[in-house]
Amino acid sequence: MNIAVVGTGYVGLVTGVTLSEIGHHVTCVDIDEEKVAKIKMGISPIYEPGLDELMQKNMDANRLDFTTNHQDAFKSADVIYIAVGTPEKEDGSADLSFVKNVAVQIAETVTNDVIVVTKSTVPVGTNDRLRDLLNKNLDNNVKIEVVSNPEFLREGSAIKDSFEGDRIVIGSDSEEAAATLEKINEPFGVPIYKTDIRSAEMIKYASNAFLATKISFINEIANICDRVGANVEDVAKGMGQDKRIGPQFLNAGIGYGGSCFPKDTKALIQIAGNVEYDFKLLKGVVDVNKQQQSLLLDKLNERVGSIEGKKIAVLGLAFKPNTDDMREAASIIVTEKLIEQGAEVVAYDRIAMENAKTILNSNVEYADRLEDAIGDSDAALILTEWDEIKKINLDIFKAMKYPLVIDGRNVFSLDQMKECGVEYHSVGRPAVE
Ligand code: NAD
Repeated sequence: MNIAVVGTGYVGLVTGVTLSEIGHHVTCVDIDEEKVAKIKMGISPIYEPGLDELMQKNMDANRLDFTTNHQDAFKSADVIYIAVGTPEKEDGSADLSFVKNVAVQIAETVTNDVIVVTKSTVPVGTNDRLRDLLNKNLDNNVKIEVVSNPEFLREGSAIKDSFEGDRIVIGSDSEEAAATLEKINEPFGVPIYKTDIRSAEMIKYASNAFLATKISFINEIANICDRVGANVEDVAKGMGQDKRIGPQFLNAGIGYGGSCFPKDTKALIQIAGNVEYDFKLLKGVVDVNKQQQSLLLDKLNERVGSIEGKKIAVLGLAFKPNTDDMREAASIIVTEKLIEQGAEVVAYDRIAMENAKTILNSNVEYADRLEDAIGDSDAALILTEWDEIKKINLDIFKAMKYPLVIDGRNVFSLDQMKECGVEYHSVGRPAVE
Protein backbone atom coordinates (compact mmCIF):
# COMPACT_ATOMS: atom_id res chain seq x y z
CA MET A 1 0.00 0.00 0.00
CA ASN A 2 1.10 3.56 -0.64
CA ILE A 3 0.28 5.59 2.42
CA ALA A 4 0.58 9.29 3.16
CA VAL A 5 0.64 10.49 6.78
CA VAL A 6 -0.16 14.16 7.42
CA GLY A 7 1.58 15.53 10.52
CA THR A 8 4.85 14.22 11.94
CA GLY A 9 4.21 14.92 15.62
CA TYR A 10 4.07 12.31 18.40
CA VAL A 11 1.31 10.36 16.63
CA GLY A 12 2.06 11.00 12.94
CA LEU A 13 5.74 10.16 13.11
CA VAL A 14 5.17 6.95 15.07
CA THR A 15 2.32 6.00 12.69
CA GLY A 16 4.50 6.60 9.63
CA VAL A 17 7.49 4.74 11.04
CA THR A 18 5.52 1.71 12.25
CA LEU A 19 3.43 1.42 9.05
CA SER A 20 6.67 1.39 7.05
CA GLU A 21 8.13 -1.19 9.43
CA ILE A 22 5.28 -3.60 8.57
CA GLY A 23 6.03 -3.18 4.87
CA HIS A 24 3.99 -0.28 3.54
CA HIS A 25 5.50 2.53 1.53
CA VAL A 26 4.90 5.67 3.57
CA THR A 27 5.37 9.37 2.82
CA CYS A 28 4.96 11.69 5.79
CA VAL A 29 4.19 15.35 5.19
CA ASP A 30 4.44 18.23 7.65
CA ILE A 31 4.17 22.00 7.27
CA ASP A 32 7.00 22.48 9.76
CA GLU A 33 10.06 22.75 7.50
CA GLU A 34 12.54 22.65 10.37
CA LYS A 35 11.01 19.43 11.68
CA VAL A 36 11.10 17.73 8.28
CA ALA A 37 14.71 18.85 7.65
CA LYS A 38 15.73 17.36 11.00
CA ILE A 39 13.95 14.08 10.29
CA LYS A 40 15.57 13.83 6.87
CA MET A 41 18.93 13.98 8.64
CA GLY A 42 17.82 10.98 10.70
CA ILE A 43 17.11 13.00 13.86
CA SER A 44 13.73 12.47 15.48
CA PRO A 45 12.18 15.79 16.61
CA ILE A 46 10.70 14.05 19.65
CA TYR A 47 12.15 11.87 22.39
CA GLU A 48 10.55 8.45 22.04
CA PRO A 49 12.47 5.28 22.96
CA GLY A 50 13.33 3.18 19.88
CA LEU A 51 11.96 5.68 17.36
CA ASP A 52 15.24 6.98 15.88
CA GLU A 53 16.54 3.51 15.04
CA LEU A 54 13.28 2.31 13.46
CA MET A 55 12.94 5.56 11.51
CA GLN A 56 16.47 5.28 10.11
CA LYS A 57 16.03 1.58 9.29
CA ASN A 58 12.94 2.22 7.16
CA MET A 59 14.37 5.35 5.51
CA ASP A 60 17.40 3.26 4.49
CA ALA A 61 15.07 0.59 3.12
CA ASN A 62 13.34 3.27 0.96
CA ARG A 63 9.99 2.55 2.56
CA LEU A 64 9.79 5.84 4.45
CA ASP A 65 9.98 9.33 3.05
CA PHE A 66 9.39 12.85 4.35
CA THR A 67 8.30 16.02 2.59
CA THR A 68 6.73 19.43 3.15
CA ASN A 69 4.87 19.20 -0.13
CA HIS A 70 1.34 17.81 0.18
CA GLN A 71 1.00 17.19 -3.55
CA ASP A 72 4.10 14.99 -3.53
CA ALA A 73 2.81 13.07 -0.55
CA PHE A 74 -0.70 12.54 -1.93
CA LYS A 75 0.03 11.89 -5.58
CA SER A 76 0.31 8.10 -5.41
CA ALA A 77 -1.38 7.51 -2.06
CA ASP A 78 -4.09 4.87 -1.71
CA VAL A 79 -4.68 5.93 1.85
CA ILE A 80 -4.08 9.26 3.63
CA TYR A 81 -3.81 9.33 7.43
CA ILE A 82 -4.58 12.60 9.22
CA ALA A 83 -2.48 12.94 12.39
CA VAL A 84 -2.44 16.69 13.01
CA GLY A 85 -3.14 18.31 16.37
CA THR A 86 -6.62 18.99 17.75
CA PRO A 87 -5.69 21.28 20.65
CA GLU A 88 -8.04 22.72 23.22
CA LYS A 89 -9.83 25.96 22.45
CA GLU A 90 -10.50 28.53 25.14
CA ASP A 91 -14.00 27.15 25.78
CA GLY A 92 -12.61 23.60 26.18
CA SER A 93 -13.81 22.32 22.81
CA ALA A 94 -11.43 20.76 20.26
CA ASP A 95 -9.84 23.09 17.72
CA LEU A 96 -10.46 21.39 14.37
CA SER A 97 -8.81 24.02 12.21
CA PHE A 98 -5.72 21.88 11.48
CA VAL A 99 -7.90 18.94 10.43
CA LYS A 100 -10.03 21.21 8.22
CA ASN A 101 -6.90 22.64 6.55
CA VAL A 102 -5.75 19.12 5.72
CA ALA A 103 -9.20 18.29 4.31
CA VAL A 104 -8.93 21.27 1.98
CA GLN A 105 -5.41 20.22 0.95
CA ILE A 106 -6.66 16.70 0.18
CA ALA A 107 -9.73 17.85 -1.73
CA GLU A 108 -7.61 20.20 -3.84
CA THR A 109 -5.01 17.57 -4.63
CA VAL A 110 -6.36 14.07 -5.12
CA THR A 111 -7.35 12.87 -8.56
CA ASN A 112 -7.92 9.20 -7.68
CA ASP A 113 -10.13 7.36 -5.19
CA VAL A 114 -8.57 7.50 -1.76
CA ILE A 115 -9.36 6.50 1.81
CA VAL A 116 -8.84 9.21 4.41
CA VAL A 117 -8.10 7.85 7.87
CA THR A 118 -8.49 10.10 10.90
CA LYS A 119 -5.96 9.32 13.63
CA SER A 120 -6.39 12.72 15.26
CA THR A 121 -8.79 12.73 18.19
CA VAL A 122 -11.92 14.45 16.87
CA PRO A 123 -15.39 15.05 18.36
CA VAL A 124 -18.20 12.68 17.45
CA GLY A 125 -19.65 13.62 14.07
CA THR A 126 -16.44 15.18 12.72
CA ASN A 127 -15.65 12.32 10.32
CA ASP A 128 -19.14 12.48 8.82
CA ARG A 129 -18.68 16.20 8.21
CA LEU A 130 -15.19 15.56 6.88
CA ARG A 131 -16.53 13.05 4.32
CA ASP A 132 -19.08 15.61 3.08
CA LEU A 133 -16.47 18.35 2.92
CA LEU A 134 -14.00 16.14 1.08
CA ASN A 135 -16.48 14.93 -1.52
CA LYS A 136 -18.26 18.28 -2.06
CA ASN A 137 -16.25 19.70 -4.94
CA LEU A 138 -14.76 16.53 -6.34
CA ASP A 139 -14.88 15.31 -9.88
CA ASN A 140 -17.78 12.81 -10.14
CA ASN A 141 -15.42 9.95 -10.88
CA VAL A 142 -13.40 10.38 -7.69
CA LYS A 143 -14.63 9.06 -4.34
CA ILE A 144 -13.13 9.68 -0.94
CA GLU A 145 -14.10 7.30 1.89
CA VAL A 146 -13.44 8.27 5.50
CA VAL A 147 -12.38 5.96 8.33
CA SER A 148 -12.02 6.80 12.00
CA ASN A 149 -8.96 5.04 13.43
CA PRO A 150 -8.33 6.67 16.82
CA GLU A 151 -4.86 6.38 18.30
CA PHE A 152 -4.21 4.80 21.70
CA LEU A 153 -0.40 4.95 21.89
CA ARG A 154 1.20 6.29 25.03
CA GLU A 155 4.13 8.67 24.75
CA GLY A 156 7.21 6.98 26.17
CA SER A 157 6.16 3.52 24.95
CA ALA A 158 4.65 4.45 21.59
CA ILE A 159 6.59 1.93 19.46
CA LYS A 160 5.82 -0.94 21.82
CA ASP A 161 2.18 0.13 21.97
CA SER A 162 1.92 0.05 18.17
CA PHE A 163 3.01 -3.58 18.04
CA GLU A 164 1.51 -4.76 21.32
CA GLY A 165 -1.56 -2.56 21.68
CA ASP A 166 -4.76 -3.91 23.21
CA ARG A 167 -6.84 -3.12 20.10
CA ILE A 168 -6.98 -1.19 16.87
CA VAL A 169 -10.35 0.51 16.41
CA ILE A 170 -11.63 0.93 12.86
CA GLY A 171 -14.80 2.93 12.45
CA SER A 172 -16.34 3.25 9.03
CA ASP A 173 -19.69 3.23 7.30
CA SER A 174 -18.02 1.73 4.23
CA GLU A 175 -17.37 -2.00 4.49
CA GLU A 176 -14.82 -1.82 1.73
CA ALA A 177 -12.82 0.96 3.38
CA ALA A 178 -12.95 -0.84 6.74
CA ALA A 179 -11.69 -4.04 5.08
CA THR A 180 -8.77 -2.15 3.49
CA LEU A 181 -7.82 -0.68 6.87
CA GLU A 182 -8.04 -4.10 8.44
CA LYS A 183 -5.66 -5.45 5.80
CA ILE A 184 -3.22 -2.57 6.32
CA ASN A 185 -3.15 -3.15 10.07
CA GLU A 186 -3.13 -6.97 10.14
CA PRO A 187 0.70 -7.27 10.26
CA PHE A 188 0.74 -5.42 13.60
CA GLY A 189 -0.82 -8.57 15.09
CA VAL A 190 -3.03 -6.46 17.35
CA PRO A 191 -6.75 -7.37 17.75
CA ILE A 192 -8.91 -5.28 15.43
CA TYR A 193 -12.28 -3.98 16.51
CA LYS A 194 -14.59 -2.72 13.77
CA THR A 195 -17.53 -0.47 14.43
CA ASP A 196 -19.42 2.47 12.97
CA ILE A 197 -17.73 5.82 12.57
CA ARG A 198 -19.39 7.69 15.46
CA SER A 199 -18.86 4.86 17.93
CA ALA A 200 -15.16 4.78 17.00
CA GLU A 201 -14.87 8.50 17.68
CA MET A 202 -16.63 8.04 21.01
CA ILE A 203 -14.45 5.04 22.02
CA LYS A 204 -11.40 7.34 22.04
CA TYR A 205 -12.98 10.02 24.22
CA ALA A 206 -14.70 7.52 26.52
CA SER A 207 -11.43 5.61 27.03
CA ASN A 208 -9.43 8.70 27.94
CA ALA A 209 -12.23 10.02 30.15
CA PHE A 210 -12.41 6.68 31.97
CA LEU A 211 -8.65 6.56 32.57
CA ALA A 212 -8.69 10.17 33.79
CA THR A 213 -11.57 9.22 36.11
CA LYS A 214 -9.51 6.35 37.57
CA ILE A 215 -6.66 8.78 38.25
CA SER A 216 -8.82 11.44 39.88
CA PHE A 217 -10.64 8.75 41.87
CA ILE A 218 -7.48 7.30 43.39
CA ASN A 219 -6.17 10.82 44.03
CA GLU A 220 -9.27 11.66 46.05
CA ILE A 221 -8.90 8.37 47.95
CA ALA A 222 -5.26 9.40 48.60
CA ASN A 223 -6.34 12.77 49.97
CA ILE A 224 -8.71 10.99 52.35
CA CYS A 225 -5.96 8.47 53.28
CA ASP A 226 -3.77 11.46 54.20
CA ARG A 227 -6.43 12.61 56.67
CA VAL A 228 -7.40 9.25 58.15
CA GLY A 229 -3.92 7.72 58.40
CA ALA A 230 -4.28 5.01 55.73
CA ASN A 231 -1.73 4.24 53.02
CA VAL A 232 -3.08 4.70 49.48
CA GLU A 233 -0.46 2.39 48.01
CA ASP A 234 -1.74 -0.51 50.10
CA VAL A 235 -5.33 0.53 49.40
CA ALA A 236 -4.68 0.54 45.62
CA LYS A 237 -2.99 -2.86 45.82
CA GLY A 238 -5.93 -4.31 47.69
CA MET A 239 -8.41 -2.74 45.28
CA GLY A 240 -6.48 -3.75 42.17
CA GLN A 241 -6.56 -7.43 43.10
CA ASP A 242 -10.25 -7.33 42.29
CA LYS A 243 -10.33 -8.24 38.59
CA ARG A 244 -13.29 -5.95 38.01
CA ILE A 245 -11.12 -3.02 39.08
CA GLY A 246 -7.62 -4.06 37.92
CA PRO A 247 -4.31 -2.71 39.23
CA GLN A 248 -3.52 -0.20 36.48
CA PHE A 249 -4.01 3.56 36.73
CA LEU A 250 -4.34 3.44 40.49
CA ASN A 251 -1.12 5.32 41.24
CA ALA A 252 -1.93 8.32 43.40
CA GLY A 253 -0.03 11.50 42.66
CA ILE A 254 -0.34 15.10 41.56
CA GLY A 255 -2.68 14.33 38.69
CA TYR A 256 -2.63 13.76 34.98
CA GLY A 257 -1.19 16.09 32.34
CA GLY A 258 0.01 15.74 28.78
CA SER A 259 -1.48 16.46 25.41
CA CYS A 260 -4.48 14.13 25.70
CA PHE A 261 -6.27 13.65 29.04
CA PRO A 262 -6.68 17.35 29.91
CA LYS A 263 -7.98 18.37 26.50
CA ASP A 264 -9.99 15.22 25.75
CA THR A 265 -11.87 15.29 29.06
CA LYS A 266 -12.82 18.92 28.49
CA ALA A 267 -13.78 18.23 24.87
CA LEU A 268 -16.05 15.37 25.95
CA ILE A 269 -17.77 17.68 28.44
CA GLN A 270 -18.35 20.04 25.48
CA ILE A 271 -19.54 17.21 23.20
CA ALA A 272 -22.07 16.23 25.88
CA GLY A 273 -23.05 19.87 26.44
CA ASN A 274 -23.73 20.31 22.72
CA VAL A 275 -26.48 17.70 23.00
CA GLU A 276 -27.70 19.19 26.27
CA TYR A 277 -26.19 16.55 28.50
CA ASP A 278 -24.47 17.67 31.68
CA PHE A 279 -21.53 15.27 32.21
CA LYS A 280 -21.32 15.90 35.97
CA LEU A 281 -18.95 13.04 36.77
CA LEU A 282 -16.35 14.15 34.24
CA LYS A 283 -16.55 17.77 35.40
CA GLY A 284 -15.64 16.48 38.87
CA VAL A 285 -12.70 14.54 37.42
CA VAL A 286 -11.34 17.71 35.79
CA ASP A 287 -11.80 19.78 38.97
CA VAL A 288 -10.10 17.17 41.15
CA ASN A 289 -7.13 17.06 38.77
CA LYS A 290 -6.72 20.83 38.87
CA GLN A 291 -6.79 20.83 42.65
CA GLN A 292 -4.36 17.91 42.81
CA GLN A 293 -1.69 19.78 40.85
CA SER A 294 -1.34 22.23 43.76
CA LEU A 295 -1.08 19.51 46.41
CA LEU A 296 2.71 19.64 46.73
CA LEU A 297 2.69 23.39 47.24
CA ASP A 298 0.06 23.03 49.95
CA LYS A 299 2.22 20.40 51.65
CA LEU A 300 5.32 22.56 51.25
CA ASN A 301 3.60 25.66 52.64
CA GLU A 302 2.20 23.66 55.54
CA ARG A 303 5.65 22.36 56.37
CA VAL A 304 7.89 25.44 55.91
CA GLY A 305 5.46 28.34 56.29
CA SER A 306 6.52 31.07 53.89
CA ILE A 307 8.57 29.89 50.93
CA GLU A 308 9.75 33.38 50.04
CA GLY A 309 13.52 33.36 49.49
CA LYS A 310 13.71 29.56 49.84
CA LYS A 311 15.59 27.56 47.28
CA ILE A 312 13.38 24.78 45.90
CA ALA A 313 14.64 21.94 43.70
CA VAL A 314 12.08 20.73 41.17
CA LEU A 315 12.93 17.22 39.97
CA GLY A 316 11.27 16.06 36.77
CA LEU A 317 9.48 18.46 34.42
CA ALA A 318 7.86 16.32 31.70
CA PHE A 319 4.20 15.40 32.25
CA LYS A 320 5.32 11.78 32.65
CA PRO A 321 8.57 9.80 32.35
CA ASN A 322 10.18 8.74 29.05
CA THR A 323 8.94 11.72 27.10
CA ASP A 324 10.09 15.29 26.46
CA ASP A 325 6.46 16.43 26.15
CA MET A 326 5.75 19.39 28.41
CA ARG A 327 2.14 19.95 27.35
CA GLU A 328 -0.06 20.44 30.44
CA ALA A 329 2.73 19.18 32.72
CA ALA A 330 2.19 19.78 36.45
CA SER A 331 5.61 21.46 36.49
CA ILE A 332 4.15 24.46 34.63
CA ILE A 333 1.72 25.32 37.45
CA VAL A 334 4.03 24.26 40.28
CA THR A 335 7.02 26.35 39.11
CA GLU A 336 4.78 29.32 38.30
CA LYS A 337 3.31 29.30 41.81
CA LEU A 338 6.70 28.81 43.45
CA ILE A 339 8.09 31.85 41.62
CA GLU A 340 4.93 33.84 42.43
CA GLN A 341 5.49 33.09 46.12
CA GLY A 342 9.09 34.31 45.92
CA ALA A 343 10.97 31.00 45.81
CA GLU A 344 14.22 30.47 43.96
CA VAL A 345 13.55 27.49 41.65
CA VAL A 346 16.23 25.15 40.34
CA ALA A 347 14.84 22.54 37.96
CA TYR A 348 16.17 19.33 36.47
CA ASP A 349 14.89 16.96 33.79
CA ARG A 350 17.55 15.41 31.57
CA ILE A 351 15.19 14.88 28.63
CA ALA A 352 12.48 17.57 28.88
CA MET A 353 14.72 20.46 30.05
CA GLU A 354 15.21 21.98 26.57
CA ASN A 355 11.45 22.05 25.88
CA ALA A 356 10.84 23.29 29.44
CA LYS A 357 13.09 26.31 28.86
CA THR A 358 10.69 27.54 26.17
CA ILE A 359 7.61 27.01 28.35
CA LEU A 360 8.35 27.59 32.05
CA ASN A 361 8.65 30.96 33.80
CA SER A 362 11.91 32.60 32.69
CA ASN A 363 13.03 32.91 36.34
CA VAL A 364 13.41 29.14 36.65
CA GLU A 365 17.07 28.11 36.75
CA TYR A 366 18.22 24.77 35.38
CA ALA A 367 20.83 22.37 36.73
CA ASP A 368 22.88 20.08 34.50
CA ARG A 369 22.80 17.24 37.00
CA LEU A 370 20.21 15.94 39.44
CA GLU A 371 22.70 16.32 42.28
CA ASP A 372 23.34 19.97 41.40
CA ALA A 373 19.62 20.79 41.53
CA ILE A 374 19.28 19.21 44.95
CA GLY A 375 22.56 20.76 46.17
CA ASP A 376 21.95 23.21 49.00
CA SER A 377 18.22 23.63 48.38
CA ASP A 378 15.70 24.01 51.21
CA ALA A 379 13.31 21.43 49.80
CA ALA A 380 13.08 19.08 46.83
CA LEU A 381 9.81 18.46 44.99
CA ILE A 382 9.47 15.36 42.79
CA LEU A 383 7.12 15.91 39.86
CA THR A 384 7.99 13.13 37.36
CA GLU A 385 8.85 9.52 38.21
CA TRP A 386 11.88 9.20 35.91
CA ASP A 387 14.02 6.08 36.50
CA GLU A 388 16.96 8.42 37.07
CA ILE A 389 15.15 9.85 40.10
CA LYS A 390 13.96 6.45 41.33
CA LYS A 391 17.55 5.19 41.27
CA ILE A 392 19.15 8.19 42.96
CA ASN A 393 21.50 7.60 45.87
CA LEU A 394 19.29 8.92 48.69
CA ASP A 395 22.32 10.25 50.59
CA ILE A 396 22.40 13.08 48.03
CA PHE A 397 19.36 14.56 49.76
CA LYS A 398 21.43 14.94 52.92
CA ALA A 399 23.39 17.76 51.21
CA MET A 400 20.28 19.95 51.41
CA LYS A 401 20.07 22.73 54.01
CA TYR A 402 17.38 20.73 55.78
CA PRO A 403 16.59 17.49 54.04
CA LEU A 404 12.92 17.83 53.10
CA VAL A 405 11.58 15.87 50.14
CA ILE A 406 8.00 16.23 48.93
CA ASP A 407 7.20 13.56 46.39
CA GLY A 408 4.28 14.03 44.00
CA ARG A 409 4.69 10.58 42.43
CA ASN A 410 5.32 8.29 45.41
CA VAL A 411 8.68 7.30 43.95
CA PHE A 412 10.38 6.05 47.13
CA SER A 413 9.22 3.48 49.65
CA LEU A 414 8.54 4.72 53.17
CA ASP A 415 11.02 2.18 54.60
CA GLN A 416 13.76 3.49 52.29
CA MET A 417 13.15 7.05 53.45
CA LYS A 418 12.97 6.09 57.13
CA GLU A 419 16.33 4.39 56.79
CA CYS A 420 18.02 7.37 55.16
CA GLY A 421 16.71 9.85 57.71
CA VAL A 422 15.26 12.44 55.35
CA GLU A 423 11.95 14.14 56.09
CA TYR A 424 9.62 12.83 53.43
CA HIS A 425 6.07 13.66 52.44
CA SER A 426 4.26 11.91 49.61
CA VAL A 427 0.68 11.50 48.36
CA GLY A 428 -1.77 9.51 50.47
CA ARG A 429 0.94 7.86 52.56
CA PRO A 430 2.07 8.64 56.10
CA ALA A 431 4.84 11.23 56.39
CA VAL A 432 8.37 10.16 57.38
CA GLU A 433 9.67 12.71 59.89
P1 NAD B 1 1.65 17.22 17.53
O1 NAD B 1 1.31 18.62 17.84
O2 NAD B 1 2.83 16.57 18.18
O3 NAD B 1 1.85 17.05 15.95
C1 NAD B 1 1.01 17.62 15.00
C2 NAD B 1 1.84 17.85 13.74
O4 NAD B 1 0.97 18.22 12.66
C3 NAD B 1 2.85 19.01 13.86
O5 NAD B 1 4.14 18.56 13.52
C4 NAD B 1 2.32 20.08 12.86
O6 NAD B 1 3.36 20.83 12.27
C5 NAD B 1 1.63 19.18 11.85
N1 NAD B 1 0.64 19.86 11.01
C6 NAD B 1 -0.33 20.76 11.36
N2 NAD B 1 -1.05 21.10 10.27
C7 NAD B 1 -0.55 20.41 9.21
C8 NAD B 1 -0.88 20.34 7.83
N3 NAD B 1 -1.88 21.03 7.30
N4 NAD B 1 -0.13 19.54 7.04
C9 NAD B 1 0.90 18.82 7.54
N5 NAD B 1 1.25 18.84 8.85
C10 NAD B 1 0.53 19.62 9.68
O7 NAD B 1 0.34 16.38 17.85
P2 NAD B 1 0.24 14.87 18.40
O8 NAD B 1 0.56 14.83 19.84
O9 NAD B 1 0.93 13.96 17.46
O10 NAD B 1 -1.34 14.64 18.27
C11 NAD B 1 -1.99 14.49 17.03
C12 NAD B 1 -3.40 14.01 17.29
O11 NAD B 1 -3.38 12.69 17.85
C13 NAD B 1 -4.23 14.86 18.25
O12 NAD B 1 -5.55 14.89 17.83
C14 NAD B 1 -4.10 14.11 19.57
O13 NAD B 1 -5.19 14.34 20.41
C15 NAD B 1 -4.09 12.67 19.10
N6 NAD B 1 -3.41 11.76 20.00
C16 NAD B 1 -2.23 12.11 20.58
C17 NAD B 1 -1.57 11.20 21.41
C18 NAD B 1 -0.27 11.58 22.08
O14 NAD B 1 0.15 10.83 22.98
N7 NAD B 1 0.39 12.65 21.70
C19 NAD B 1 -2.13 9.93 21.65
C20 NAD B 1 -3.33 9.60 21.02
C21 NAD B 1 -3.97 10.52 20.20
